[in-house]
Amino acid sequence: MGRVLIIGAGGVGNVVAQKCAQMPEAFDHITLASRTLAKCEQIRKRTRNRWKRNIKTAQVDADKPSEVKRLIRSCKADVVINVALPYQDLAIMDACLATGVHYLDTANYEPLNEAKFCYKWQWAYCSKFRKAGLMAVLGCGFDPGVTNIFCAYALKKHFDEIHYVDIVDCNAGTHGHPFATNFNPEINIREITQRGKYWEDGKWKETDPLSVRMDFDYPTIGPKPSYLLYHEELESLVKNIKGLKRIRFWMTFSEQYITHLRVLENVGMTRITPVTFEGHKIVPLQFLKAVLPDPGSLGTTYSGKTCIGCVMTGVKDGRTSKRFIYNICDHAECFKEVEAQAISYTTGVPAAIGAALMLGGIWKGKGVFNVEEFGPEPFMQKLNIHGLPWLDTEYRDTL
Ligand code: NDP
Repeated sequence: MGRVLIIGAGGVGNVVAQKCAQMPEAFDHITLASRTLAKCEQIRKRTRNRWKRNIKTAQVDADKPSEVKRLIRSCKADVVINVALPYQDLAIMDACLATGVHYLDTANYEPLNEAKFCYKWQWAYCSKFRKAGLMAVLGCGFDPGVTNIFCAYALKKHFDEIHYVDIVDCNAGTHGHPFATNFNPEINIREITQRGKYWEDGKWKETDPLSVRMDFDYPTIGPKPSYLLYHEELESLVKNIKGLKRIRFWMTFSEQYITHLRVLENVGMTRITPVTFEGHKIVPLQFLKAVLPDPGSLGTTYSGKTCIGCVMTGVKDGRTSKRFIYNICDHAECFKEVEAQAISYTTGVPAAIGAALMLGGIWKGKGVFNVEEFGPEPFMQKLNIHGLPWLDTEYRDTL
């Protein structure tokens, strides 16, 4: 049992706070802090009404380690769950080191002025966390997060070596808006407008953005066009899953979404370099975020399902086989439980589970870790209990 500080009160922070509230055996004290106090207050009221738990709230600018340090000390946190934006990762890690608390996040650091996420900045903190006797757990959402754990589980249960992994991520839901992103628009658009990248035969191979497509038949949903993207878990899985020959990541987008995105790109609205507008410097992508729907608000009208999982080909005792491990999540069910859509839900539940395992001493270590480095079973069991049941099936198609 321990004390948790959650930083970030957006779509994901709402789910993390309510899920931590549903696990009193793991979290006896919860503080939720964010840049805008009013958003924390709204979640506090929801948590009290729905789960009869009182949580504390606070205002913090997490870009400033001194503010985070003060907050960690005042709420006496044992672990910080960072579900603010990737730009804050290093500042929050610094504050955790200075105050002697563990750290967990769901998205890897990227500098504000360069749309280039990768683990090198956070992996570089490993010796500092080790020397301090602390642990930092990176990428504990769904993807990255659960997808990494599905790979670790398959390696333990089905294979001596995994040779091919295809991570498939489908959102077949509809929210009724002509264009909206399911998590922070700025982070989401920076991610998908990058060049595609996958790993094969010991090398990274690049593709033009959204230029490689396949139709994947998602269970209960049906076939959907899926596009090859670079996604952050590829980097850690290449390092941690020995024997890999190829790993790729695919995500579904509707024609309508892609058309809007292309227009926005063509007119310069996805740029991250500032332009001068009426005497002010503005970043077009940040302005676009301000006019798009808040991802946390989409749940009210969302229906349909998501399916995210890993198709893996591997070898056991000389015999080759394929497994598909996946979760199906329903937007409306998530809304009924915690007033969130399924993308926030599938990210927030694993973050709360990861922190519970850290506080319970089930995930332990000193240094910086990706989630596939831990024993997968306790996490997989908790997914079933806390709203993200999974299926482990034989896969017969070709990819
Ligand atoms: P939102 O934009 O809805 O929420 C972000 C929250 O962080 C907001 O409350 C925002 O405050 C707060 N915040 C931003 N900057 C600061 C700051 N400097 N100090 C304190 N608080 C700050 O995003 P989401 O909830 O959709 O996503 C949260 C994180 O989850 C992102 O990093 C995203 O990349 C990650 N994610 C991971 C996934 C996975 O599967 N691994 C999937 C989806 C998301 P304010 O309200 O004032 O803007």
